[in-house]
Amino acid sequence: MGKGSFVDGKFVEGAEVLKTVSPANGQTIEEVFLADGKTIDKALAAAEKGIGKKPQRENFRILKEILSERSLEIAELIAIEQGKPVQEALAAEIYPSLSYLDFLLRKGEEIIGPKEVPPYETMFAAREGLLLHQATVVNLIVSPWNYPFAIPFLDIVASVFAGAPVIFRPSAKTPLVGLEIAKLFKDAGFPSYSLQVLITGHREVEEILKDPRIGGIFFTGSVETGRKMGELAGRLLKRAVLELGGKDAMVVFEDAPIERAVNGALWAGFMNAGQTCASVERLLLHKKIYREFLSRIKEKVEALRVGHPLEPETDMGPLISKEQREKVLRLIEEAQGKVVTGGRAMEGEGFFMEPTLVLEPPPSSTLWREEVFGPVIAVRSFETEEEAIALANDSKYGLTASVWTASRERARRVAEALQAGAVTVNDHLSSYAEPSAPWGGVKGSGLGRTHGEFALRDAVQIKYIMGDFSRRKKLLWWFPYSPKARKTLLLASQMLFGRGKLRAMLNLIPSIPRLVREVGPAALLSSLGKLIGL
Ligand code: NAD
Repeated sequence: MGKGSFVDGKFVEGAEVLKTVSPANGQTIEEVFLADGKTIDKALAAAEKGIGKKPQRENFRILKEILSERSLEIAELIAIEQGKPVQEALAAEIYPSLSYLDFLLRKGEEIIGPKEVPPYETMFAAREGLLLHQATVVNLIVSPWNYPFAIPFLDIVASVFAGAPVIFRPSAKTPLVGLEIAKLFKDAGFPSYSLQVLITGHREVEEILKDPRIGGIFFTGSVETGRKMGELAGRLLKRAVLELGGKDAMVVFEDAPIERAVNGALWAGFMNAGQTCASVERLLLHKKIYREFLSRIKEKVEALRVGHPLEPETDMGPLISKEQREKVLRLIEEAQGKVVTGGRAMEGEGFFMEPTLVLEPPPSSTLWREEVFGPVIAVRSFETEEEAIALANDSKYGLTASVWTASRERARRVAEALQAGAVTVNDHLSSYAEPSAPWGGVKGSGLGRTHGEFALRDAVQIKYIMGDFSRRKKLLWWFPYSPKARKTLLLASQMLFGRGKLRAMLNLIPSIPRLVREVGPAALLSSLGKLIGL
């Protein structure tokens, strides 16, 4: 495979290169060619050819099969380039991608296919309505390094399935994994217009978005960059689906299954070295279980095995870069909370740091308020349900949250009150792997939803077709206006929407011939149906 952008079915070279670095040792893994202006133009032209064309089901079926066959190989590449342990890459990147492909193959056409929607309005009772999902543009997908495979893969397959070709621009930190997606598409026999993968700098992303063939951007990344992309898309009147940062709260009540909650917090706080948009960053514990919970979790945090992501016994790999590690350590220091365990960089090569627990950081500290994106869980206690909800909602973010309790009633009540795009009960983060579940946040965590049916619908444009094949020469509301037509309209609005159904029905009887004449028998049946409550 050539290590350069994937354009019109081929991997292309270029003059300039980008170095991709392994976070486990800081060494260059490979040099990847950057796309120049000509390559970008070619990619846009190739993608344009596929607008509105849906690849064969067979392509998706083969894609699923080869991804399943290459699971381990791709998981190892993710481990090397991004740093999460292989098992985690399998569980959180490959498996959800396979499951979503399966969902698309079984349910996709039903969701996105043409749908007859008989009109509701009485006046249109004789008509036919049809809803279409049409792809009229190319979608730009820009994604982060923390899930370099699953995040773009799910967005890409949804868009391509719906008939909208994709220009995908992987993070500059994980181009090799991005190009692996191109290889999968090539090997699954997708038409060359379906997917273009461009390795570029940031300036080029904006230029691509400005191209009239691009209809929208599916951006996943930080709030700061998301805002820029959203502003630009807004100015250009293009769709922007923004999946941004998070500051997830995990709320543990006194009746929660404690050992499960301890293990859940440990995993959701430290998997991917805490570099997940929906990592547990704020752990809220009921006063009654606070001490016990902390002593159990401290022991387990200290037992986590930090090491090379290719080692099967590694629980936690390195952070993505030296800068990211420095930022996380600085936030811990500045917060001046009680560091129960961790809080230090690890010696040796690579960007490893200790998994960290911080108690009661000041509510105004950056550690408590901003996304840390590192292996740090900050802990606070609460006494009442109201206090827990208020603490959890006191954030500018709202991606996901979790409630831990044995009570279904409490779980439902608290889940409804939490300001988040998804809430899990007695688990955290796992809704990402449910193909039918929407993914996305409220407040600063973004706009729009991906995954499930939502990704398919957002990838395309909705068209409504309404047809009237009755032989009527003139419709009630057309010219010329007349006292008769006015009376019929008045009668219809009083009868259908006013008070006193019995009176309306009695009024209807002498008007039946007129209604049939001027609006049609179907409208009469529809009015009667509505009046008797059908
Ligand atoms: P980032 O915003 O720095 O970068 C995201 C993508 O945008 C990358 O491809 C990057 O190269 C590109 N980019 C950065 N600056 C740009 C610019 N000025 N112009 C054009 N493109 C630009 O984010 P990141 O560090 O890669 O990822 C981490 C962030 O992503 C975290 O905030 C995390 O919470 C968020 N995230 C959100 C979700 C979600 O589903 N909500 C999922 C994963 C990550």
